[in-house]
Amino acid sequence: MSLVLHLPMRYEDETQLLSLHAASMKPGMVVQVEGVVSDCEVQFRPRRQLMVKLSDGTGMLTMRFLNFYGSQASQMAVGKRLRVRGEMRHGFFGDEMVHPTVRSVEQGAPLPEALTPVYPSGEGLSQTLLRKAIANAMTRIAWQDSLPEHIRESLKLMPFEPAIRLLHNPPSEVDELALAERTHPAWLSVKFDELLAQQLSMKRAQAARRQQGAPALAHAGALTASLLSALPFSLTAAQRRVLAEIRADLSAAFPMQRLLQGDVGSGKTVVAALAAAQAIDCGYQAALMAPTEILAEQHFRKIATWMEPLGVTMAWLTGSLKKRDKDDARARIESGAATLVIGTHALIQQDVEFARLGLVIVDEQHRFGVTQRLTLRNKGVDSVPHQLMMSATPIPRTLAMTYFADLDVSVIDELPPGRTPVVTRLISQDRRDEVVERVHAAAREGRQVYWVCPLIEESEALQLQTATETFERLSASLPDLRVGLVHGRLKPADKQNVMEAFSRGELQLLVATTVIEVGVDVPNASLMVIEHAERFGLSQLHQLRGRVGRGSAASACLLMYQGPLGGVAKERLSIMRETADGFEIARRDLALRGPGEFLGARQSGEAMLRFADLEKDQWLVEKARDLAQQLLTEAPEIATAHLARWLGAKEDYLRV
Ligand code: ADP
Ligand code: MG
Repeated sequence: MSLVLHLPMRYEDETQLLSLHAASMKPGMVVQVEGVVSDCEVQFRPRRQLMVKLSDGTGMLTMRFLNFYGSQASQMAVGKRLRVRGEMRHGFFGDEMVHPTVRSVEQGAPLPEALTPVYPSGEGLSQTLLRKAIANAMTRIAWQDSLPEHIRESLKLMPFEPAIRLLHNPPSEVDELALAERTHPAWLSVKFDELLAQQLSMKRAQAARRQQGAPALAHAGALTASLLSALPFSLTAAQRRVLAEIRADLSAAFPMQRLLQGDVGSGKTVVAALAAAQAIDCGYQAALMAPTEILAEQHFRKIATWMEPLGVTMAWLTGSLKKRDKDDARARIESGAATLVIGTHALIQQDVEFARLGLVIVDEQHRFGVTQRLTLRNKGVDSVPHQLMMSATPIPRTLAMTYFADLDVSVIDELPPGRTPVVTRLISQDRRDEVVERVHAAAREGRQVYWVCPLIEESEALQLQTATETFERLSASLPDLRVGLVHGRLKPADKQNVMEAFSRGELQLLVATTVIEVGVDVPNASLMVIEHAERFGLSQLHQLRGRVGRGSAASACLLMYQGPLGGVAKERLSIMRETADGFEIARRDLALRGPGEFLGARQSGEAMLRFADLEKDQWLVEKARDLAQQLLTEAPEIATAHLARWLGAKEDYLRV
């Protein structure tokens, strides 16, 4: 990418010069003044500092430098003329500035006419060097606009060259607020160009994918029909709709790449099972990959109760299997004897080969990196399998239109009937006794309870210790309850035993770390306590809360917190109290954190937009998307030129 697209992050106004007298009236403001040094000395008490006095005939300013080099002291020797920029304060010594920016100047040296750009400089480059390099690049690039004039005009966007020139050298009369907030037409134009490049690159990737062959899984047959009639419930309208979308994709001869979104508890698993049934009906294998062993296990059990009675042969593959069982599973996958394979990351190990893989389903897709999903996709023998990704982290509209523009999206926007909303309460840690009493009461009524222990990011060992201590404390204060403990370090078999005991209702209280965050489904659990809720992220809290409210009993989620709460933590907790709508939570999470963190480093990778702000610039995203579509069909050469300008040789925005 050309250096001219390395745009300032902010500007400094050095176009104005105040007299010291006038500057003295502006305490707290950043001002620029000029004067001659009348005194320069190093003080040692109360601490070592360089004190320089500057005067211009209207007033006197003291400058203080706590860390300084000898060369600085000589630059500011008595008699030197200095131009100084910094925050004006009224201090002990009268008017003063601490660590101002200082330059020696000749008397009458002209002031700059443009605002001074400050560039992002991660590589340790100085601003001066960057400014020079960029100014130099501006004399050399071909300024030709990649978009024709009539398009710029119809969108009311500034043409490329004036926009870029203005951003590097804004005239002093520019609307500084619009510049700072990036709503100035020059910024809008650049942001639009960036978004357009991203849309074009993703749409091209999508088109390239369509060139690859996939097995056309054209008919839903006997298995699908009997599965539908064997289910203990009927599908919701939303489930039927997304299923129809998936089926249409499966019957095409190019790979499906569909994201199935549905809030926690909306019933994605059964949709996945029905998609798998269609693949099996057509003589292919289907694989379902889940991010944790607990979740994979639970899928396996649930789907097995539906599918095994119908004659489907399933295989189970996770890292913790004994070698013999693993070999056995691999052999059945390779021979094609097993048609439905469920497991964890183990499924994407090199030594796993599928006989006829037709469909790959990835649950909680945001937990996996792009490469992990790709590896499973490459397990097709002579064609690419269809891919269904499922996520309970709803992706706000703007993100879906940008980072996921190359995916087709289906949304389950309705919960199965008979759910009761979860009541959420915030409770201070001081009232822990009341919470314990609540747990007791729920258990006496035959309900089950989750108690989630705090996340301790710095140390997994500490997290385990806390979970164990909480387990012991709660067991002691609730001696008549059957209490279990589950955490990430348990042996898989032990983990499984605890989860099963809880599922069967043998345990009444389950103390857990966040291992239970995703997918765990025990409808009789109706109370969730989250300790130190202030340490969790929003989507995590939403996922955890989604573990209750799955049955018909009234459910509650108690968010215990340790005050005093910081601003963001307070905001997060009140969002949790105000809404249970996953989309609303995701939208507000995005606003709180920005897309980089929201998506997680793995998802966004290099693909971050540098200039556009998805929250504020939604309308630009929409315009860019429409134009991208239009260019690709009507003027592909413009699309190519535009991509070349923004991406150069590397297809930055391309995601798989
Ligand atoms: P998620 O979308 O969070 O993965 P699940 O697939 O685990 O949700 O479904 C949550 C619960 O709802 C499960 O117990 C599932 O069997 C049940 N369920 C799914 N679809 C329906 C439906 N149409 N009617 C009633 N219950 C359903
Ligand atoms: Mg699920």
